[in-house]
Amino acid sequence: MTTTTDEGVVHLLWINAGLSCDGDSVSLTAATQPSIEEIVLGALPGLPKLAVHWPLIDFECGPEQGADTFIEWFHKADRGELGQFVLVVEGSIPNESIKSAGYWCGFGNNPETGQPMTTSEWLDRLARKALVVVAAGTCATYGGIHAMAGNPTGAMGVLDYLGWDFTTRAGIPVVCVPGCPVQPDNMSETLLYLLYQATGQAPMIPLDDAHRPMWLFGQTVHEGCDRAGYYEQGDFTHEYGSPKCLVKIGCWGPVVKCNVPKRGWMNGLGGCPNVGGICIGCTMPGFPDKFMPFMDEPPGAKISTAASSVYGGAIRKLRSVTAKTVDQEPKWRRRGTELLTGYLPRW
Ligand code: SF4
Ligand code: SF4
Repeated sequence: MTTTTDEGVVHLLWINAGLSCDGDSVSLTAATQPSIEEIVLGALPGLPKLAVHWPLIDFECGPEQGADTFIEWFHKADRGELGQFVLVVEGSIPNESIKSAGYWCGFGNNPETGQPMTTSEWLDRLARKALVVVAAGTCATYGGIHAMAGNPTGAMGVLDYLGWDFTTRAGIPVVCVPGCPVQPDNMSETLLYLLYQATGQAPMIPLDDAHRPMWLFGQTVHEGCDRAGYYEQGDFTHEYGSPKCLVKIGCWGPVVKCNVPKRGWMNGLGGCPNVGGICIGCTMPGFPDKFMPFMDEPPGAKISTAASSVYGGAIRKLRSVTAKTVDQEPKWRRRGTELLTGYLPRW
């Protein structure tokens, strides 16, 4: 239990009441580098004391410290009683202004009216007061599935709702950790970085044009894929269950920024194309509309794979000659009375 009088405490307020499946919360429970337990318990050097208010596992959600107490932390932040806090948003933000009555999604009640407090109102109240706003997962970052063409809610990402040039009172832009769901360690590592930044132990977080941490999203799926060698050799599969490159059955890896093939999904295991799943671009602002229909060969891939098939075929032939050579032992390794290694005695 943390009180408002605790000094040096950084609060982490997690709103999971955007339009979402809660997959990013579930995902974070699988983090190992670092784990959320290590962050919460301060097991890593230099971490500030952290009070996490996270609906998924919050220990204040029991009968004694029930939901009212839980939501009170958010009201305290709104009243300016919390000191430093990090605001994490999960889920896309529906447009509450496109209808005359009702609401799309909310988080607790407004004590003054007794009516549900919409998620967008929470953002209006808390975003500017936070140390930093973190959008967790593709729905919260860029809108994701709910923001597809033809949706009825007008959903958008936190960036679109607050504005791409929004900064908090600490001058920090919205930090986006996309992924559907977010890769667990990408999320925990970003939180860790921001906690170090909050305590003056790290410089301003480096973000790319889509507000993603640069060290996590600086490379393409293709650059980290186990199957990239097959691509280079023009060796493409047309069906699932093959170890070859998946681009002909819809992999967008060459143009998608994501480290999942390198980092794996949980504790280094998995990683979409590495284990046979095409990359559908779930970390990208254009997801999903610009990557559909899934399972078709991506448009640009037709030209690049045609070229790769020609030079890749030639490379494969040459490599097979080299491969045969290096697959055999040097000829001097054999029994006999003669030394065949080329050794020249110097004395
Ligand atoms: S499976 Fe996808 S990411 Fe991997 S090499 Fe092929 S195109 Fe690139
Ligand atoms: S590899 Fe592609 S589909 Fe898989 S998590 Fe990364 S962006 Fe999403």
